Amino acid sequence: MKSAKSFSRGGIVVPYPVHHGSQSPIDNAFLPLNAYVALAQGENGQDARVVLTEGTEVREGQLIARGSGRGSVSVHSPIPGIVRRITRMRMHGGQERGVAVVSLAGSFSILGKRQERYLWKSLNKNDILHIIQEKGVVSAAHGQSLYDLFTENREAPVDALVVNMLEMDSYRRTEAEICRIRCADVADGVAISAKIMQPARVILAMDTDFSEALAQELLHILHEASLESEIMRFKRRYPQDMPALLMRAIGKRSVGTCMVLEPSALVTLHDAVVANKAHIEQYVYVGGRAVKHPAVLKARIGTPIGDLIEECGGFVGPPAKIVVNGPYSGQAADLDVPVTRTTRAILALHAEETNDAPRRACVRCGACRSACPENLDPHLIYKYIAAGRTDEAVAIGLNACIECGSCAWACWSRIPLTECFSAAKKGDSHA
Ligand code: SF4
Ligand code: SF4
Repeated sequence: MKSAKSFSRGGIVVPYPVHHGSQSPIDNAFLPLNAYVALAQGENGQDARVVLTEGTEVREGQLIARGSGRGSVSVHSPIPGIVRRITRMRMHGGQERGVAVVSLAGSFSILGKRQERYLWKSLNKNDILHIIQEKGVVSAAHGQSLYDLFTENREAPVDALVVNMLEMDSYRRTEAEICRIRCADVADGVAISAKIMQPARVILAMDTDFSEALAQELLHILHEASLESEIMRFKRRYPQDMPALLMRAIGKRSVGTCMVLEPSALVTLHDAVVANKAHIEQYVYVGGRAVKHPAVLKARIGTPIGDLIEECGGFVGPPAKIVVNGPYSGQAADLDVPVTRTTRAILALHAEETNDAPRRACVRCGACRSACPENLDPHLIYKYIAAGRTDEAVAIGLNACIECGSCAWACWSRIPLTECFSAAKKGDSHA
C-alpha cells in the first residue's frame, strides 16, 4: 500500500464524516406512485428520442426513449405502469428538462424475481459495449453515459483503471456502503471494464478511513479473477474525489492515462451486463441534520426526493436548505424534483450546516484563491463576469473551473462564486 496522497494546492478540510448506521443493509425505497423520468442526463445531456406515445402501458425496464448519439442516453421505465405524459419539469439546480411521467400499474417483471446471470465472459468487447449503450448506464460522478466514456478518445490505451471509492464531503458514504454490500459485483464491474479498456493496472483509490478489511476483501476477489490491483490511500480533503483531481494526485507521470469509475457505476454496469437490467435504480444517500433517520436507499429513477425524505422519517425541524449531491457543489432543490441517474445524495441541511450568512461586498481577503484546487483567481473571474466582461474571465481560466464549490464555501462575504461561474459557462448572466 502506498502512503496517503493528495492534490497539490487548494481545497478545503472537511469535518469528520457523518456516520449513519453503517451495519444496516441498504433498503429498497418504496416505489413511487408516479415516476418522473428525465429524458436527458447530467448538466449538458441531450434528450433521448421518445419511442412511446402517451397512454402506452410499460413494463419495468422497458425502453421509453432511445439515445441518439453522444450525450444522449436511452431511458427505461423504472416501474410498471402507464406513460401518462411527456412533458417538461424543473430539475435540481432549476434547469427545466423533458420528462416522461409513468403512473404505477400492472405487475412486476424485475422486483422480487430471481435475477438471471448471463455468461458475459464469452461476449466480445463490442457486444458488451452494445449492452451498456442499450441499458443506458450512466456514471453519476461524470454525468455521462458509460458507453460515451468507454468509447470517446480511445485511440490511446488506458494505463490505469481507477476505482474511485473516495467521498470527500461530510455526508456521503454511499460508495463505501456499496462496496460493503456488493463487493463481488463491484469486482465484476471492474472485470467488465478491464475487458473493454485493457488497462495495464487497476488502482483502488480510497480515503484513510476506508475499512482495511473491506479493501483486502476487494483486492482478494480481484486477484482471484486474475486482476492484479493495488490500493492507494488519499487524505480526506475536499474535492479529492473529483476525477480530475484524483488523476492529478495519482500522478500522470507515474501512471499515465487513467479512467476513473466509482463503485456505484461499476455495480450498475454489472447489473446491465450480468443481469440484463437497465439503469432504473440509483443508490442515494438521504441525510443532513434536518432528516430524522439518514440512510442510503436504493431508489427508482423518477422518485420525487420528498418521498425519500418521508421514508427516512421526514424532517426533524424545518430545513434551512435542501441540496442534491453535496453541500459544496450540490444544487438547491425542492421536494418535487425527481431522482435522476446522476443523483447521489439528497441533503436537508440544518441552518448550522449551510455556512449561509448575509452577502457582503468582496473584502479581497484571498480566501477563495487559497481554496481553489485549479490555481484560479475566483475573485478576479467573478469581477470580470459581474462587469459583463466574460471574455476576460475566460482568458484567465473560467473554463478550467471544475465547479467544486471550494471558493464559495471559503468566501467570507458569501458571494455565490460557483453559481456565477456555472451560469457564465452556460452563457447565462448571474452575478
Ligand atoms: S469552483 Fe472553480 S474557481 Fe471555485 S475553487 Fe472550484 S475550481 Fe476554483
Ligand atoms: S473569498 Fe470572497 S471576499 Fe475574499 S477575495 Fe474571494 S470573493 Fe472576495
